[in-house]
Amino acid sequence: MTDSTTPKNKLQGKVAIVTGGASGIGEATARQFATHGARAIVIADVQDEMGQSVAASISLNICSYVHCDVSDEEQVRTLVDSTVNKYGCLDIMFSNAGIGRATNTREQSVFDIDLSAYDKLMAVNARGMVACVKHAVKAMVEGHVKGSIICTASVSASVGSYGIVDYTMSKHAVLGLVRSASLQVGSYGIRVNCVSPGLVGTPIVKDTMRWNDEEVGKMQESISYLKGGLLMPKNVADAVVFLASEDSQFVTGHNLVVDAGFKS
Ligand code: NAD
Repeated sequence: MTDSTTPKNKLQGKVAIVTGGASGIGEATARQFATHGARAIVIADVQDEMGQSVAASISLNICSYVHCDVSDEEQVRTLVDSTVNKYGCLDIMFSNAGIGRATNTREQSVFDIDLSAYDKLMAVNARGMVACVKHAVKAMVEGHVKGSIICTASVSASVGSYGIVDYTMSKHAVLGLVRSASLQVGSYGIRVNCVSPGLVGTPIVKDTMRWNDEEVGKMQESISYLKGGLLMPKNVADAVVFLASEDSQFVTGHNLVVDAGFKS
């Protein structure tokens, strides 16, 4: 019998990058990568203090923090190059950084969509995602590494949204990226998948919707068919570990939904 803190070593000796690792799903995944024996975890984020503190709380022996705004390709290139230079290779890219909105608007419709806010959101959620995939596959091919790339999409990648257009578009784009990239890099033995969380009570949700924990919990219950607890970052992280590890050796181009039975 094992519990969630027992080392399981599914990622023994692996070198991983986690974007958006200072908080929420990225943070939980960085912790699970460490639990599973990764030898190096590089947390990349724009929240420097939080990122440094997460890295220190995991262990500075295996975990480090790098400031990287994923919407800036040069910063992504530097992130990947510095990881390879320091640790010799890149085995896992968890491209997870994302934002929920670029303005204070809560509801958004095609009638009045603010296109400069749209550009800002797409720069992180879509452009940032492809920059991470691009530089990760280059490093993996050059290093002859049969690596695993996992992107964070969303249940919003597969259904339309009444209230949020740009975020929904950005997550549909992630699905298109994963499906195309997985075909293009399969011959190198590199796998590309995505994880699609349902509603998880992280800052992206609380800030976008202006909900407190109780409101998030009530909403999770009302939109989920599966009962027996609330969907947490760790539950998504466990799915990412599966996609990062040999357990999913022949899984590529897949959208692994972790949504407690989302009532779409
Ligand atoms: P979060 O707010 O806790 O974490 C997002 C992280 O991304 C933060 O640490 C933030 O600083 C970082 N980030 C934002 N912009 C960045 C940039 N330009 N460069 C680098 N880092 C940046 O929220 P989360 O729920 O952990 O979100 C992680 C991912 O999960 C996002 O892609 C989000 O869209 C996706 N997602 C979340 C939910 C949910 O309900 N929480 C559901 C579906 C998908």
